[in-house]
Amino acid sequence: MLWLYTRKIGKVQAIAKGIRKIKSRKAGHLEPFTRVNLLMARGRTFLIVTQAETIDAFLNLREDLLLIGYAAYITELLDRFTYDEDDNQQIFNLLNKTLGRINTESDPDLPVRYFEIKLLELLGYRPELTNCVNCGSEIQAEDQFFSISMGGALCPRCGPKIPDASQISLNTLKYLRHYQRSSYTEAAKAKLSPQLNRDLEQLMQRYFTYFLERNLNTPTFIRRVKNRPQQG
Ligand SMILES: [Zn+2]
Repeated sequence: MLWLYTRKIGKVQAIAKGIRKIKSRKAGHLEPFTRVNLLMARGRTFLIVTQAETIDAFLNLREDLLLIGYAAYITELLDRFTYDEDDNQQIFNLLNKTLGRINTESDPDLPVRYFEIKLLELLGYRPELTNCVNCGSEIQAEDQFFSISMGGALCPRCGPKIPDASQISLNTLKYLRHYQRSSYTEAAKAKLSPQLNRDLEQLMQRYFTYFLERNLNTPTFIRRVKNRPQQG
C-alpha cells in the first residue's frame, strides 16, 4: 500500500503490484519521498499503480536519518491535514519544493520552518501577526504574546489576560511575518539561529497539535536523531 500526494487528485492510497518499470528494472521507482510519474487505474477498492517512473529521487532523503525525519515530518503534517482526493496544486508544489530543498540545502531547518508557515496558510489557518487578535491594535516592535486558540499575536496589554497566551519574542514574530509574506528566496536570506529555529519549531508544532487535537509522531523521532551520540 502506498500513500501518495498527487498533483491531479491530491492525497490517495494506492496499491502497486506487477509494476512495469519504464526505465530501469532495478531502480526503485516507488521509494519513500520520491517524486514519480505514475499511471494508475481504478480498481474496485483502491487505485492500482500500473507504471512508475522516477522524476526526482531525492537521494539524501533515503540515507541521512535526520533528513528522513524532516521529510517524514512534512509528509505527516500533510497526511493529517488533508483529505483523500482533495486536490490542491499549491500544496503539491510546496511539498515538492520542500522535499527538494531538504534534499539539497546545507540548512534543512529553514525549508521545514518555511513549509510550516506556508502550509498553515494554504490550509486556511494563517496566524494573524500584524494586529492583536484581541483588541485589534497594530503589533509594535516589542516582545509580544501569542495565543494558539485565538490564532495569532497579542499585544502586551491583552496577552496576560488570555489564558492560553504565551510569550513570544519580537524576533520570533519577525521571522514568522517574514516567512508569511516572502518567497522562499527572500525568506532564506535571513539566517536562522539555532535558538530561533527551536522557538519557531515549538510554536508551530503547538499550533498544529492544537488543530489536530493530538500529538504528531515524527517530532519525537527527529529529537531522538538529533540527540543521538555522534559516531566516529
Ligand atoms: Zn491587544
